[in-house]
Formats: sequence, structure tokens, C-alpha cells
Amino acid sequence: MYTPKNPGALDPIEELQEMADKELKAIKISHILVDRIVVKEFDEDDLHRLADSVSTAFYEGEGDIYLQIIKENQGVEKKSQLTTHNSLLHFNNRLELDGMQFEEPQPNLFSFNNPFGACPTCEGFSQVLGVDADLVIPDRRLSVYEGAVAPWKAEKMDWWRQNFIKGAKKFDFPVHKPIADLTNRQYKQLWEGCEGVYGINDFFKDVESQLYKVQYRVMLSRYRGRTECPDCNGYRLRKEALYVKINGKNIGELSSMPVKDLQGGLKNWINISASMIKTLPKEY
Ligand SMILES: [Zn+2]
Repeated sequence: MYTPKNPGALDPIEELQEMADKELKAIKISHILVDRIVVKEFDEDDLHRLADSVSTAFYEGEGDIYLQIIKENQGVEKKSQLTTHNSLLHFNNRLELDGMQFEEPQPNLFSFNNPFGACPTCEGFSQVLGVDADLVIPDRRLSVYEGAVAPWKAEKMDWWRQNFIKGAKKFDFPVHKPIADLTNRQYKQLWEGCEGVYGINDFFKDVESQLYKVQYRVMLSRYRGRTECPDCNGYRLRKEALYVKINGKNIGELSSMPVKDLQGGLKNWINISASMIKTLPKEY
């Protein structure tokens, strides 16, 4: 029968290998020690050996490894940001930040023609079937008060227009201003509503909840159309691809830049990257 040793003690793996599965499950193994190395200065062989051990540890640890550095006469290396319990430094080979895990960038991730990179909502087409804003507001010279929102012009739907006009005071919305002159924020408020006041999206949600009535089905069909995909904002790529940024811009934003600006920007970034590579120590 195996008797566990003191916490922190090392047990040879051979002893564990001889144990039955039941016994093995009953003991708590906190870590498996893959390698120990004592050196004054690392030579080439040491570096190769370390590289092998690190790769074994990453493989066996399914992406996580712990490292303990003990300096001569100094005891355990003092705690750093990476230090976890028992003064172990923790590393993993995942791309993650703030609890989110990211895909490792590879060419297919940036291609909307490839199922791996395409936005799953619009399948890389940039548009989805929804409510066509140009059909809902066909004349942008009109204000909300004047009936710019076409579906609210119907006698039975005037309640929605009245409700918006009354509520608009709460958030200072200019109901007499032509739609074309609204700020982006105001235009968004008209669609999304604000401070409990219903907007155009709420109206269509209500219509969709009553599609069992034929007149609602007819009305919705009048305003149906292809609209920009809300998940990728028309960039066609899945969000993991858009998380990757160069100088604060994702590939979609870079593609929408005028060629002149993009060319200048890229030249600068390449120069900066080249100078960074030059200043890296040799071993990198
Ligand atoms: Zn999309």
C-alpha cells in the first residue's frame, strides 16, 4: 500500500506506476517534475535539454507548465507577477487575456472565403436578412415628426410615432430635425430607443411577435431586406480575427482605409517592427 509522503515531497514515478488505478486516484498529485537542472552558466547542451523538457512539460501538462528557480544561497526566487502557490512560476502556451481565449492567428483566420475565418452569422457575406433601413426611412429629408419612419405612418401604427415624440424630450432628441441631419448617436437612439422609449427595433420586434396575423406578415415583407451583419459589422470575419490588431486597427478597419493612408501606415509599422527586431537579444 502506498503511503503519501509529506506535502512538497518528491516521489519517484516508478512507485506510482506500480499502483492500481483505484489507489492512484486516491492520492493527490499536485505536479509532475519533468526536469531539474543545476548550472552556473547555460551552455548550448543545457539550452537544448531545457527546450526538450519545456516542450515535454507543455505536452504532458496540456498547455500549462510551472517553473521554480532557486538561486545559490538565496533560496527560492522571490515572488513575481507570474508566481503562483509554492513560489512556482506559471506559464501556458494559450493566447488568452482577461479570461478570454483567442485563436492562434493563421492565414485562414483572416479569410472570409474560408469557413474557419468567415463570420458564422452572415457566413462571410457581410449582410444578413433583416430590416432594410432605406425602406423604413425612404426620405431622409423628413423628420420623425413629419413621418420619416414609413411603417409608423399607417393609421394603426401612429401610436409608435406619438410615443417616440412624447418620450424624445427625456433624452433631448430633435423630433423636428431631418433624419439626414441627426448625429450618429441620435440616429442610433431612433432605432434602438432610449430611456424606456421604444425605437424602430422595438416596433419590428413587436411586429415579429404577431406574425400569425396576415397584415403583420405583409407589413414585415415590405421592409425586409439585406442589412449589415450586426456581429462582424460588415467585415465578414469571425470576431476572433477582428481581435487581432495592428497599431489598434483590425484587418477590416485596415481594408477600409484609403490606400494612401494604409501604405504610409504600413511603411511606418514595418520600420518600427524592423527596428524592434534589431534590438532584440541574439538568442531570440
Ligand atoms: Zn457577419
